[in-house]
Amino acid sequence: MEALLGNARLKSGLAAAFASDRLSHCYLLAGPEGSGKHTLARILAAAMECTAGAKRPCGVCLQCRKVLDGMHPDVITVDDPTKKTVTVEQIRNARTDVYIKPNEGRRKIYVIPRAMDMNPAAQNALLKVIEEPPDYAAFLLLTDAAEQLLPTIRSRSVTLHLSPLPETEGLDALAARRPDKDPATRAEAWARAEGWLGQALRLLEEGESLAPETQRFAACFARRDKLELTELLVPLERQKREQLIPLFQQWIALLDQALAVRAGRPGRWEAAERIGRVRTSAESLNALRRLQQAVELLNGNISPGAVCGALQVWLDVSK
Ligand SMILES: [Zn+2]
Repeated sequence: MEALLGNARLKSGLAAAFASDRLSHCYLLAGPEGSGKHTLARILAAAMECTAGAKRPCGVCLQCRKVLDGMHPDVITVDDPTKKTVTVEQIRNARTDVYIKPNEGRRKIYVIPRAMDMNPAAQNALLKVIEEPPDYAAFLLLTDAAEQLLPTIRSRSVTLHLSPLPETEGLDALAARRPDKDPATRAEAWARAEGWLGQALRLLEEGESLAPETQRFAACFARRDKLELTELLVPLERQKREQLIPLFQQWIALLDQALAVRAGRPGRWEAAERIGRVRTSAESLNALRRLQQAVELLNGNISPGAVCGALQVWLDVSK
């Protein structure tokens, strides 16, 4: 629960609901980008699956750890980031799946990270299942604003509104995450972000040293877009070894940050936070090791063409 900063009232309300096991089967998590919706969704899912008696989520039991590491078989994300909307087919698939009992958890939890991107047909399909779900089913709908969803869905959900952080808490969090920036720069980013920590972090990153190729790598790794990665790697075959080594080292640093995010530590770059949200530690670690191998090969005089070719095989980001 500590992972979500601020939001004291929301957290104490949830803690009481967790303690008495009075959890709704449908939550609407509402707040703009960078407000902590994804963090809150992980906390809720962990609390629902946690096997500890008191003070759920405990964060240490096997069920909690699987949820927090994004590896719980009964926490299902309903989204295809390559599509513009959340389609009625995706909702129908989830609706069919919901009648299959949980694998190992107490609940079967469907997370819809872009609930506002469900068209009315998809929302109506969802409505059918949230009206009469199986006992063990739960739905977590993340949205920028609750009003983006049909009133019929809202009336069957408990809406959790994320609040902006108070200035002192926000500035402290920024100082902890970005000690490399001077206080005036942090204060300026904080003022522009209007209380949303995620947005302030992104503002601090703007114009920062992440190479465009690194941003692209982060995007296709997070989206599991193999084709895009190939398109990124092919032109790199013609680059000089002296250019490729620092670039791959930046990709390694990015994955290292994503691992830190997974472990609950602050990530320096928003791109790392994004990877940390959707990729397990094992997946990031595997890619990181492959890139370290690539750097070793480059240092060992293997040609950039051969190394980039090998990476296309090694880094199967679709998995
Ligand atoms: Zn637990």
